[in-house]
Amino acid sequence: MPRAIGKVYLVGAGPGAPDLITLRGAEILKRADIVFHDALVHPEVLALAARAEKIAVGKRCGKFATAQQFINKRLMDAGRKHRVVVRLKGGDPMLFGRAQEEIAALEAAGVPYEVVPGVTSALAAAAEAGISLTQRGLARSVAFVTPRVGEGEAPSDWAKIAAAADTAVIYMGAGQAGEITAALLAAGAPRDLPVLVVESATLPETRRILVMLAELPRIAEYGLAGPAVIMLGTVFSVALAASAESGAPPACKTA
Ligand code: SAH
Repeated sequence: MPRAIGKVYLVGAGPGAPDLITLRGAEILKRADIVFHDALVHPEVLALAARAEKIAVGKRCGKFATAQQFINKRLMDAGRKHRVVVRLKGGDPMLFGRAQEEIAALEAAGVPYEVVPGVTSALAAAAEAGISLTQRGLARSVAFVTPRVGEGEAPSDWAKIAAAADTAVIYMGAGQAGEITAALLAAGAPRDLPVLVVESATLPETRRILVMLAELPRIAEYGLAGPAVIMLGTVFSVALAASAESGAPPACKTA
């Protein structure tokens, strides 16, 4: 087996807006020989890698998918051929991004790697809304959860954990609002718990929807096309009350 000549960088591209990648991430992209990127990465971020070959390996809601093992293999091979290999992932690479599988494969193959963190989408969405997920007096815990379970994995008790946290953020769940609502109510979350859904955070087309938990299944009516996070907790009470008072429909375009 040829020895690695380069290094594989697992880089967080940030939530969407191209200027929300870290300086370190941008610097590495400029030096990259080859970039394997997620489907959601902004074209301007990809453009930073001016001299690199760019390969989409995204897994967007099963629309087009490259099997994880195949990605792992390509990263290992690239690490033996190129000096600067970038695996560019949306948000933070280590949060719901299957980074550990890639790290394990690289370690097993003796290919050096480095992880460059990124701004995760939920924190970017909270920042844009101007709502702290750990507002003093209201929230001392934040849970990052996903209802998504991979094939052959044991079901998780994400709903119990989300219901128990002061603030919860649900990734990869916007398409299953009905099931999510039922699971959270069954786990003891109150029907009037404020919920903020943010679609395409930090991008011009972003939308925010504020509802009570019992009404969350209605987000299906908005035909969300971009990625979305569902955030729950009393930290969203003031925003929900304001949006109800304005008499506007629960969706508000913010751009
Ligand atoms: N590592 C990524 C998450 C990958 S899982 C991160 O740290 O953000 C993919 C999920 O992230 C999507 O299903 C959605 O829930 C969320 N997501 C990604 N980009 C988003 C964005 N711009 N706005 C809202 N949610 C987003």
